Amino acid sequence: MTDLGLQRPLDRFVGARTATALGKLGLRTGEDLLRHYPRRYTEPGRLTDLSELRTGEHVTVMAKVRQATIRHMRSRGGVMMEAVVTDGVRELALTFFAKHAGSLRPHESRLLPGRVGLFTGDVGRYKGKAQLVHPDYTIVGVDADDEQAALVEASRPIPIYPASSAIPSWRIATAVRTVLDPLGPGDLPDPVPADVRERRRLVDLHTALRGIHAPYSDDDHRRARARLVFEEAFVLQAALARRRAETAQADAVARPGAPVERPGLLAAFDARLPFTLTAGQRAVGEQIAADLARPRPMQRLLQGEVGSGKTVVALRAMLQVVDSGGQAALLAPTEVLAAQHLRTLRALLGPLAEEGMLGGAEDATRVVLLTGSQTAAQRREALLEAASGRAGIVVGTHALLGEHVQFADLGLVVVDEQHRFGVEQRDQLRQRSGQTPHLLVMTATPIPRTVAMTVFGDLEVSSLLDLPGGRAGVTTHVVPADNAAWLDRTWRRVREEVDAGHRAYVVCPRISPDDPADAEPADDVDLVSEEEALLFGEAERRRPLRAVLEVAEELSALPALAGVRVAVLHGRMTGPEKDEVMARFARGDVQVLVATTVIEVGVDVPEATVMVVLDADRFGLSQLHQLRGRVGRGSDPGLCLLVSTAPEDTDAATRVQTLARTTDGFEIAGVDLELRREGDVLGASQSGGSSSLRLLRVVRHADVIAEAREDAVAVVGADPTLEAHPALAAAIDQWLDPQREEFLERA
Ligand code: ADP
Ligand code: MG
Repeated sequence: MTDLGLQRPLDRFVGARTATALGKLGLRTGEDLLRHYPRRYTEPGRLTDLSELRTGEHVTVMAKVRQATIRHMRSRGGVMMEAVVTDGVRELALTFFAKHAGSLRPHESRLLPGRVGLFTGDVGRYKGKAQLVHPDYTIVGVDADDEQAALVEASRPIPIYPASSAIPSWRIATAVRTVLDPLGPGDLPDPVPADVRERRRLVDLHTALRGIHAPYSDDDHRRARARLVFEEAFVLQAALARRRAETAQADAVARPGAPVERPGLLAAFDARLPFTLTAGQRAVGEQIAADLARPRPMQRLLQGEVGSGKTVVALRAMLQVVDSGGQAALLAPTEVLAAQHLRTLRALLGPLAEEGMLGGAEDATRVVLLTGSQTAAQRREALLEAASGRAGIVVGTHALLGEHVQFADLGLVVVDEQHRFGVEQRDQLRQRSGQTPHLLVMTATPIPRTVAMTVFGDLEVSSLLDLPGGRAGVTTHVVPADNAAWLDRTWRRVREEVDAGHRAYVVCPRISPDDPADAEPADDVDLVSEEEALLFGEAERRRPLRAVLEVAEELSALPALAGVRVAVLHGRMTGPEKDEVMARFARGDVQVLVATTVIEVGVDVPEATVMVVLDADRFGLSQLHQLRGRVGRGSDPGLCLLVSTAPEDTDAATRVQTLARTTDGFEIAGVDLELRREGDVLGASQSGGSSSLRLLRVVRHADVIAEAREDAVAVVGADPTLEAHPALAAAIDQWLDPQREEFLERA
């Protein structure tokens, strides 16, 4: 849509004042305006139910004028006009003030009894009655040229644009029509090719834009919407298909591993593994091994439940790369996890990770840690080992990619537990060096297929579906926070586990009781939205969330836990402090660990059998699922107690009940997606931007996404440079642009 100058600023199409008002809605160009779709439509005949107006709300209502009267105000001087409009049952007052009656005449002549209009303003109250002061309004049908036109106009659905006090809905409609009306079908190059439209029975872009902004019937705007939803999915999928094609062209070093006649680290590792790999680990391992052996960068997402054994799969891939003379980097979302990965890898590798050390194996390599909280000396040494190639495996956080860390020969990057390792980070990786390293992204949060297609559309997906045997699993119960007997029982259960030689986690949403009491999340706590907190009502909102430091103190004083060793873990501790506590907990020196969600992912202490989550209703569903995965990892059954204050029938109650009902990660992810808003699903960059996804919903439009993907793959496959599809190429560029910008702003 570049040809007709639709990229020109809005003041070329509409008046400067309107353009400024539209600018407040983020609309800058003609195209922006055409892509600003109505939220809903009003039938001209159907009046708005006035019983639903809430004080303070900005509203647009359709109502019928009942009467209008002008009177002088004795107390203040001047005149006022009060018009009363109605939905047939209830009334709403429209109030206008002026110095002289003359200024109110135009209103009087338009607001004639019996006329229907759209009225917009902020709902106020005067003497208990709802009113709009100086509302903006338009009278339906009156502004048409002749009676015939008026009749047609009066029967059309009226678009209602997202409300804003900057500009009323019908001014937006008028502005849209100013841009749209002069355009003919040929003026709007369609990113969806004609044959695709035909196969999917979709209207063309011109018809769609007319249908969505200026429909003659409900059918018009429904067909328009269907087509525009498809377009969003199609452009996105075409962008991803093109990206896959580009990556497939990129060069990578093939890392086939050690030759059969001279087995390397991987073979030695497999030989010392204390368990047999599950069928899934073997199958995925073979896929990855084959990917690594090719001179094209692997782009693979590995998803598997908490505890499905992804680390071993990743380690085996890393060893294949080391056996081929390269290095591997393992990135964790937090420093605690990075430190734990270091310990895990070293334990699994034993002498194989002790290159140059007494007792180290002959082929051995080194595993080093690189994090921001290390001392300068530690860092220098780790950097040196990475740069010299002595370290075959470097473990760290995502900072590893951004910082100027030099590798002798980086062959593989493994990203653990990170569902937000988006397109930008993958680009960053590719641009690091001439040779793109192979990439393996791992996540324990099951991602429904269409979300994977959207967020990770340029990755191949592998899944570990089986859990290693010998896991006893977890039982989950909801404990009402106001039931003293249950709470008491909860702490006695913790005591029983500790006495049996086990350990317990107690998870709280806040670190310190001194932190702001109102749902103020600590930096490492990802609480549900403030908006949702409002739904809990006043009393609930004032009740401070449980805090680690306070709860640890209470537990230490609790008779039921007398003599039990309690410690705390949270994001405000330094890296070494956290490591120290985790190590003591793993050894059993600490028996009850009171923590924030820093323990959410990956922490692995098989003796931990019970987890108590306080204010469980304030956590996200996937997050609770992750948390719960920390117990029941050994041969003893796990118990998860969710202490909740959520009133029945709230989303929060649904979340904790879902957890108690099932441990099926896919079912949980499904419920989670239903309860969350789109932005949370896609992450900021994929959902934001002024011209990306407006109508597409990854869950609701799963079928559309699948169809669009099929078509996009075919189109890009047949025409990789999109030479024959300039409109699609332009749409992709435009789609990618805001994402880029946003990324640059954040970086
Ligand atoms: P996750 O997929 O959650 O990252 P981990 O890789 O941390 O899971 O594995 C969880 C635990 O299971 C670890 O203690 C690991 O050593 C163990 N494990 C992995 N694979 C197997 C297997 N095939 N048989 C038995 N235990 C295994
Ligand atoms: Mg893991």
